[in-house]
Amino acid sequence: MEATVGTHSRRRAAAIFVVLLGGGALWWLGGDGSGVAAGNGSSSATILSGEMQTTSANDPRLASAHRFEDGGWIYVHLEGDPATIGFQHGYLLGPDIEDGFAAVSAGMMHESQRDWAFFRKAAHEMLWPKIDAEYQQELQGIVEGLHARTGSKLDVDDIVAMNAFEELPDYYVPWYNKQQNVAHAPNLKSPGNCSAFVATGSWTKDGKIVMAHNNWTNYANGERWRIVFDIAPKTGHRILMDGFPGVIASDDDFGINSDGLMVTETTITQFEGWDPDGKAEFVRARKALQYAGSIDEYTEIMLDGNNGGYANDWLLGDSKTGEIAQLELGLKAYKLWRTKDGSFAGSNWARDPKVIKADAPQFEPNNLETSPNARRVRWDALLKENKGKIDVNLAEKMLGDHVDSYHQKPQSNERTLCGHVDSSPRGVDVWGWTPYFPGGAVQAKATDSSMTKEMKMVARAGHPCGEDFLAKPFLTAHPEYSWQEPYLRDMKAGPWTEFHSGETAASQK
Ligand SMILES: [Zn+2]
Repeated sequence: MEATVGTHSRRRAAAIFVVLLGGGALWWLGGDGSGVAAGNGSSSATILSGEMQTTSANDPRLASAHRFEDGGWIYVHLEGDPATIGFQHGYLLGPDIEDGFAAVSAGMMHESQRDWAFFRKAAHEMLWPKIDAEYQQELQGIVEGLHARTGSKLDVDDIVAMNAFEELPDYYVPWYNKQQNVAHAPNLKSPGNCSAFVATGSWTKDGKIVMAHNNWTNYANGERWRIVFDIAPKTGHRILMDGFPGVIASDDDFGINSDGLMVTETTITQFEGWDPDGKAEFVRARKALQYAGSIDEYTEIMLDGNNGGYANDWLLGDSKTGEIAQLELGLKAYKLWRTKDGSFAGSNWARDPKVIKADAPQFEPNNLETSPNARRVRWDALLKENKGKIDVNLAEKMLGDHVDSYHQKPQSNERTLCGHVDSSPRGVDVWGWTPYFPGGAVQAKATDSSMTKEMKMVARAGHPCGEDFLAKPFLTAHPEYSWQEPYLRDMKAGPWTEFHSGETAASQK
């Protein structure tokens, strides 16, 4: 299935112009698996985007969209029908999408030992036919906007595979390798992304909901995970969420909608399973944030076509009722807890014995040495200690917490809520993160019921504690990660910054 991409002669001429400029911009070499990112083609790309802006910036589809940067974040406002939202996304974030694609695709190929053609095929044959028409149009729109902005060679299969970067390499590939009895398959493990909590009732300062989340991922991807999406879709609710360039869901998952729903999650460690007939997780997650107005509706959308990809413990809040919930979404089993007076925390552990048995059989809930369980102990202590005082201000501090509950002392490592695995000689074996793996908490967000009513959140780019990660000294000390050199950049912490829907006059209604 080819993307229906409108090209006109000037656009094509500009694309050829870039090719002639040299190899710098030609970091993508096609679907034969030899595609590797050079990571430094930006000078040519900049020339191109200048060219394209003069030809496409007047496109009427861009009239209601805008972009600005603040606090280390890139804020984009997208508005309209699905194809228009996609075009705006692709155009406003064009260079960021190419840059993000280079880092993400290199990581997917390296880890899975599969070429890019494998992921394109999975996207095209397995995922695409089950994507709702609305999101197919949005994804095609992203490709069209991207082409208009940068002349990129990426097509819709590339963009769909990138959208599935959390579910294809760590969920689909291990399942596929097992099915096909692949010899010498890499030992792939589902990721452990994030520390989060949601609290309500007597636990919070104002008795309403507080929700907070920091995103754990490798630093190469995480440093690029700094988009604030303000989406006003033609149908469904308005959305404010963080996200990754080119991806239609938040994907580390922190978002609120105009019907008062608050959503975040952390992944289930050592989850195993995949349903090739299911719907991509990134599609269900986006759809649920756009269309659900209640905990029940959210659960229903996530369960519809559950493919087991990127299996999470979803932490939800309904600011209209003050109720919070935890949806532990396995593939063979799931469980929903809900309360109007309590707190739910997440740090990549599964909680329900049935889910553990059916979907994460290797997970050891009682091994307090591991990152998920050590952080679980810390969340329990920290939330209890602060019961009745929890607000967004305190949540910001908790997200930057550096207490290692296993060693009972402050030191930032893989066991702290603000993760710094690059400083850990242990790494995180249960996720396949080797010693000193350059990963951990890469950014953080928080909001509460009152802020949600006004479509507001706070966000901090970089480590939530405020420390910087510097790539060069790290790579010098750990040459075993030198393959990441083209993509791994400094990750400087920004200030906590408030964002709200319709942040500039141009899009306010
Ligand atoms: Zn930290």
